[in-house]
Amino acid sequence: MQEINAVVAGAGIWGCTIARRLAEAGRKVLVIDSRPAVGGNVRCEIDPETGIEIHSYGSHIFHTHDDQVWNFIRRFTEFNGYQHKVLAHHNGKNYFLPLGLTLINKFFGTELSPSEVSSFMKDERHSTALFDAFFRGYTSKQWGKPPESIDPGIIRRVPVRENYDINYFNDYNQGIPLRGYNSLFENLLDHPGITVECNRPYKLGDFPGVKVFYSGPIDRLFDYRYGELPWRSLRFKTERLNITDYQGTSVVNYPDIDVPYTRIHEFKHYHPEDKAVMAKTQTIIMREYPANWKKGDEPYYPISNEQSLALADKYKEEAAKIPNLVIGGRLGEYKYFDMDQAMAAALKIVI
Ligand SMILES: Cc1cc2nc3c(=O)[nH]c(=O)nc-3n(C[C@H](O)[C@H](O)[C@H](O)COP(=O)(O)OP(=O)(O)OC[C@H]3O[C@@H](n4cnc5c(N)ncnc54)[C@H](O)[C@@H]3O)c2cc1C
Repeated sequence: MQEINAVVAGAGIWGCTIARRLAEAGRKVLVIDSRPAVGGNVRCEIDPETGIEIHSYGSHIFHTHDDQVWNFIRRFTEFNGYQHKVLAHHNGKNYFLPLGLTLINKFFGTELSPSEVSSFMKDERHSTALFDAFFRGYTSKQWGKPPESIDPGIIRRVPVRENYDINYFNDYNQGIPLRGYNSLFENLLDHPGITVECNRPYKLGDFPGVKVFYSGPIDRLFDYRYGELPWRSLRFKTERLNITDYQGTSVVNYPDIDVPYTRIHEFKHYHPEDKAVMAKTQTIIMREYPANWKKGDEPYYPISNEQSLALADKYKEEAAKIPNLVIGGRLGEYKYFDMDQAMAAALKIVI
């Protein structure tokens, strides 16, 4: 192997962005990942029968209002212009999220105008009804807490759109990589200064004297010496159906407490421009079930509370004492990041 000047341990969006920057700055970079393929949780599988791009770790929609990120990522992929819209299925009916005039008027059978919605929502009977229908059950399932323990005050913190805009995200830049997420990662790592080795986990002490950028779990790096950081996990059940279209959109949320899953993803809808895939008489859906996490399970959402954040800080302090080690990404920082935030953080790191 050629001489290396830097190691990137963890080939998710954070690590691959760092690797690219290092290589463009003239370094010889070794990218390693403990998994068999790069991409981290943004990794997709292409279904061989239908060509449908399956988001292996749940739906991923790229969206950002950060121009630096948007300009950087578009060097490695075109986007297809997909705009994310989410339905919520409550009591047998579909409603467009987020909380705005479309949902409120359908739910209450009203014809409120933009100037009327704010005072309507100040009436506690209305906000409570919406909370019970769309937030209580979903939040309870998501975090594994009894429905009665969910604070109704969360509805006051949910921004209400005083218009009919049903675009799920506010960001003006969004979409899905035209040739898929995997091609985005292949392009990011396609540089003569980058070598990639999969199935290679990093351990503290590997590569002495070489700067290491690590984005795996910070507690595992230290062999859990102060204890495990808590996570919420997910289980996915994928099904192939012999119909062209199951639900007519990419994501439907299921907020009702008697439904065990929180969402159904139907992946072909992420590529409406791909007429051949859209026309297939098969579709692939995936049900998402929130789950408790134990060591060895896939960590998805950090469970942030005073105790867990203090524990994460303790590990970060340990890491800061180690020369040539830079920690980042969602697992290293113990922080939920959207993809653009992970990329923005990687673009800010001094290399
Ligand atoms: C269900 C779900 C849906 C999401 N949807 C969206 C969305 O729609 N839009 C959006 O912007 N964001 C979304 N996100 C967030 C997105 O997944 C993250 O922003 C992104 O994965 C963060 O990238 P990362 O590089 O920090 O971490 P990861 O993608 O987790 O990459 C870390 C990599 O490190 C590797 N690794 C771990 N330990 C070691 C080790 N010891 N040695 C070597 N390698 C190691 C792992 O195998 C992994 O490949 C979603 C997250 C979840 C949980």
